[in-house]
Amino acid sequence: MQTRNPASRQHSLGTRLVLATLGFCFVFTLFAVGARTLSAWNEAWAAMNADLTLLERVYQQTLSKAIWDMDRDALHTQVESTAQVASVGRIVVKLKSGNRTPELIERQADGWQPSTLAPTRHLDLVYAPFPGGSETVGELTLAGDERVLWARLRDEVKGIILTQLLQSLLLAGLIMLLFNRAVTVHVRRIAQHLGQLTPQNMGQTLRLDRNPQHGDELSLLETGVNQLQGKLTDHLAQLQHYEDELGAHRDHLAELVRARTAELESLGQAQQLVLGLSNRLIHAPPDSFDVCQQECLDEVARRLGANHALWLVPVPGQAAFRVFTEWQSADLPQAPVALPLAGLTQVPTRLAHEELLFFYSQAEMGRSLSPPETAVFTTQPVGACALGLLRSDGEDYGMLFVGKPLGQGEWPPEDRALLAMTTQLLLHSVRHKTQLIAILATQDALRNANRQLEVLSRHDSLTGLFNRRHFDQTKVDEFQRALRNNQHLSLLICDIDDFKSFNDLYGHACGDQCLRDVAGAMNAVINRSGDALARIGGEEFAILLPVTTAAAAWQVAERVRQAVVDLHIPHVASRVGPYVTVSIGLAELDLELTPDFDALFEAADQALYRAKECGRNRIEFTAP
Ligand code: GH3
Ligand code: MG
Ligand code: MG
Repeated sequence: MQTRNPASRQHSLGTRLVLATLGFCFVFTLFAVGARTLSAWNEAWAAMNADLTLLERVYQQTLSKAIWDMDRDALHTQVESTAQVASVGRIVVKLKSGNRTPELIERQADGWQPSTLAPTRHLDLVYAPFPGGSETVGELTLAGDERVLWARLRDEVKGIILTQLLQSLLLAGLIMLLFNRAVTVHVRRIAQHLGQLTPQNMGQTLRLDRNPQHGDELSLLETGVNQLQGKLTDHLAQLQHYEDELGAHRDHLAELVRARTAELESLGQAQQLVLGLSNRLIHAPPDSFDVCQQECLDEVARRLGANHALWLVPVPGQAAFRVFTEWQSADLPQAPVALPLAGLTQVPTRLAHEELLFFYSQAEMGRSLSPPETAVFTTQPVGACALGLLRSDGEDYGMLFVGKPLGQGEWPPEDRALLAMTTQLLLHSVRHKTQLIAILATQDALRNANRQLEVLSRHDSLTGLFNRRHFDQTKVDEFQRALRNNQHLSLLICDIDDFKSFNDLYGHACGDQCLRDVAGAMNAVINRSGDALARIGGEEFAILLPVTTAAAAWQVAERVRQAVVDLHIPHVASRVGPYVTVSIGLAELDLELTPDFDALFEAADQALYRAKECGRNRIEFTAP
């Protein structure tokens, strides 16, 4: 917004008033001059008319008599003297005489012109020759001289204009003088006073240099300005007061923010600490988990500036607690004092309700806990102390106690938060530990079960030898290896002779025992690492002999056969002899004849068949 500089175009109010007054006086003078001129004209006209009337009266008798007497000289003399009067412009006397054309005696002033503005009078001249008689002898016409009217008016108007102008000027001067003295000076003073006002000198009252008795608009203005200043002073004082209050509030707020920031910072540090501890606990190996938990409590106690910390855990199945860990600061006696734990048979009632208790002194704790309970936690000299309950789903996992050195009786919010977080952390760690132990136990059990399963799945339950499944897996590996390394590989298939009749004669249980004994004997012979003995059918056994020629295998087979005979298991129903015997078929890997393991197996089986055919308790070999 553009503001006008009042100093740039300064006009005095008085000057403007004078100009306005002069303008008004000019217009007024015009009207006044007009009106007075009209009036002067009328007056001049009336004076001229009165002159003419007077002349009429004066000369009527004498003119009538001179006409009647036919006294031409007197007539002319009178006409001449009448024409000398300044107001008369023209005089005409019309003489009537019977039927003749009337005679005119006429005089007029030099340069006279007929005029409609100047007065003109007509009069019949009547003569009374005898008392009571009258005779009209002529007519008198008097015409006024317009120039006389104008000359008179000019003189008059000059005077009028002069007086009016003088009047106007005097009036304007007077108004200006009065206005200057009564208004302008004071308005200037007010403007100057207002211009110099600042919040600091707002209390300075405005005093106009004039009679206090004047109860006019300026007095009102003066009072108004002073009242306004008073109100402004009050308002400024109020503003200052508000500003001071605001400043105080701001300082207080800044103090609060500082305190809150510091609190948040230490809370953040506490959170960081708990996070770090939690991380350590999560990654702690199971065997050092307890140590890690104990270290956690130590660290928190140190952070809290404590001198004594305890972690008590319930003794399973008993109304008692034991110390899981105890920490004390270096300034306490090195050997921990024995805790009177016998007095602690349950979680203190108030702690059971509130789960987290803060005390500002040992004495305050004494008022909340029973004496035996208090005794447990006051074996060391402590000031402010706190108790936390590790409780989850109604089950109690222990109690935490933290005590600060004597003389310290404060629990700021960040300490309370740290302790609450620690209680939760340790509670979760305890549950984590329980779960970890359970998981580890389950893992062990699973591992054992798997091992057993593995053993079972690869072994024959009756004889303890490898079973068909294991044999089938091994045979492929060995066959491939032999091919790869171009090594010998021999296979023996052993079958108990007349085992059906053994069963029939001695019973199935004896048959099982016989199978176990035969297997044991074979196992005793097949003891070279890499050789594989498996029960592959009812009373059929296979022996895989890697890196073994047929000749060497033959010797193994012979030892097996002999070992079975040497068991001396009676078998009266045998077609071979009095004891249990085995027949053995032998085959050796040959790339042309036995391109795969099945062919090798088939060759050994054929050899076995031949051994049976040839009388049993013998070894047969399928030559390549
Ligand atoms: P060969 O000399 O020709 O081999 O005659 P064999 O009687 O032994 O032949 P066969 O194959 O006819 O009989 C095998 C018998 O083995 C039949 C079955 O009663 C017996 N047997 C198979 N498995 C078991 C087992 O696990 N326990 C017992 N007790 N007997 C079994
Ligand atoms: Mg058989
Ligand atoms: Mg048999």
